[in-house]
Amino acid sequence: MLQSQEVRGKLLTVKDGYLECPACHRNRRLKRVAPDEVGERILLYCRDCKTEIRIDIVKGECFESRGR
Ligand SMILES: [Zn+2]
Repeated sequence: MLQSQEVRGKLLTVKDGYLECPACHRNRRLKRVAPDEVGERILLYCRDCKTEIRIDIVKGECFESRGR
């Protein structure tokens, strides 16, 4: 099944184990990400820019979630 690959969105910046906020880039510690972390449609809230973001995590790499 190649479908899951197409659903994946933009690759997001993870630095020193923390996800940087893709909306404002000011919040460098939006979420702690373990190197082997896996998850789908995780809802995050950035207190700096007050934006809600949904992400997918594949082995420590974060992607913008593209539901629908
Ligand atoms: Zn932000």
